[in-house]
Amino acid sequence: MMDFPERDQADIHNALLILLDGENKLNAKDREIVADLCHKRYKYGYWSPKQTQYADALFKRGMGQQPDDRPKVAVGSFAGVYKLLEGASAHLKYPKIQLAINNRPVVLYRSGPKSKYEGTINVTDGGDFGNNKWYGRVDKEGNWTHGRTYPELNEVEGLLKKLGESPQAVAKEYGRLTGRCCFCGHKLEDEKSTAAGFGPVCAKHYGLENEWKNAVAVLDQKEAA
Ligand SMILES: [Zn+2]
Repeated sequence: MMDFPERDQADIHNALLILLDGENKLNAKDREIVADLCHKRYKYGYWSPKQTQYADALFKRGMGQQPDDRPKVAVGSFAGVYKLLEGASAHLKYPKIQLAINNRPVVLYRSGPKSKYEGTINVTDGGDFGNNKWYGRVDKEGNWTHGRTYPELNEVEGLLKKLGESPQAVAKEYGRLTGRCCFCGHKLEDEKSTAAGFGPVCAKHYGLENEWKNAVAVLDQKEAA
């Protein structure tokens, strides 16, 4: 049984190669192990689950991330955000919430099965794996474990707090500001979708059909008035 999708292995493999090429926090011994792991994957075409986990840990170490002693910040309950993403995973392979602060993307998605933190919500800048900013992870209780320190962390914190409080309000605001659906990223095609902040298909996928209907009803009332 292959627990680890090939795509993830390839991502980690590439990220390690890029990491080895530049400045990183790996010591000589780590570098040897990384070189050996990469060689093995060339030779056999895949890593075992254990090797994948090891490669991922080395990548994180090379990036200077210490998995367990990072600062934690409370951003308020994230139960609503979890509900959205968990519900959507029944319909979609990679459900996510795509937002932005000052034109800088902020993307939330659940950790996959290869992660030690399977199911917890990651926050990134939406870049490709190994080449992105990882802002950290948020558990259901709203404990945000920071990734590295970035200048925009305060803004990310503000956004996470608003999102925890009301995902729908954030979706709506984002839709109004950008004209895009915060789930699939597509253009909101009509004013009903714009009123809700997401389109009817995403409403179905993310369990927001009632919110969609309510937003549309408010719009209909306005038109009738
Ligand atoms: Zn959508």
